[in-house]
Amino acid sequence: MRYEAPRTIKEATGLLAKAKGSAFVLAGGSDLLVRLKSGMIEPELVVDIKRIPSMQTVTKTASGFRIGGAVPCAALGENAALKKAWPGVVEAANVIGSDQIQGRCTIVGNLCNASPAADSVPAMVAAGAKASVVGPKGKRTIAVEDVVTGPGKTSLKKGEVIEAITLPKPAPKSGDAFLRFIPRTEMDIAVVSAGVCLTLGSKGVVKKARVVLGAVGPTVLLVPAAAKAIIGTTLDDAALAELAAACEAACKPIDDKRGTIEFRTEVAGVLARRAAVIAYQRAGGQ
Ligand SMILES: Cc1cc2nc3c(=O)[nH]c(=O)nc-3n(C[C@H](O)[C@H](O)[C@H](O)COP(=O)(O)OP(=O)(O)OC[C@H]3O[C@@H](n4cnc5c(N)ncnc54)[C@H](O)[C@@H]3O)c2cc1C
Repeated sequence: MRYEAPRTIKEATGLLAKAKGSAFVLAGGSDLLVRLKSGMIEPELVVDIKRIPSMQTVTKTASGFRIGGAVPCAALGENAALKKAWPGVVEAANVIGSDQIQGRCTIVGNLCNASPAADSVPAMVAAGAKASVVGPKGKRTIAVEDVVTGPGKTSLKKGEVIEAITLPKPAPKSGDAFLRFIPRTEMDIAVVSAGVCLTLGSKGVVKKARVVLGAVGPTVLLVPAAAKAIIGTTLDDAALAELAAACEAACKPIDDKRGTIEFRTEVAGVLARRAAVIAYQRAGGQ
């Protein structure tokens, strides 16, 4: 196995594009190294992106935030401006594993590992995050929900790397939130998760919303019917009940030792409802 640690994204994409056998990007390595050590993968090439300066920073821009692909999740929690603008996204990044894991792992690695239970993904999708993809044929920008196509599968082509995640500048009177259910307090895989982002109009009426579920389908689920249930309301009990019902209807969970279909379906509604209430309060709703 060849290990390379280029200093530019151009070099990284060039190496990946030319690889004859299987080639992987290495960010924090908290998924990749586990797969390597357990013999699940035997790459010909591993390209470490942690030394590429354009991927190491979080920047506040005129249109929002740019989070470099190699920025560890711990650094997101230490960025006061990001935390204030997108508390739900930061919360989701900061429940991954432990302090040690967060010192290495990235939200891009979390996304590209393509687990249906990846914690940061529902929050990013709810926030309307975009992925800046660089490859041998140039750059393109895609919605985060279009990166993962199924468990362990992404839409990235040979040689392509996600250079950064961009988050928009939150609209006035907006709030986001993320919640997950795990059987213990930390270091576990989400049985169900939910991310909600909403914007209020006048008198606390919900003007825009995005409701996203994790771990209840092969990819995260954006649930437009759940958003529709709360738009135009002040998030009263009837609207919340409708949101929960829409989430339950959208679920396509598996049955496994960590949760039955019935349990996951019910919890999806409960978590989405609770996350909507937190997002509403953060947006300034009473
Ligand atoms: C003890 C432990 C606890 C964990 N707990 C959680 C948890 O609570 N919640 C959770 O969601 N996950 C958890 N994980 C999984 C893992 O930590 C996360 O998915 C993490 O965010 C992966 O990020 P990384 O930077 O370490 O990715 P890596 O392991 O470096 O990469 C993961 C995959 O993404 C690809 N990749 C990485 N960066 C890019 C890029 N820029 N462009 C294209 N492809 C890329 C890699 O090639 C690889 O296939 C845990 C893992 C461990 C070992």
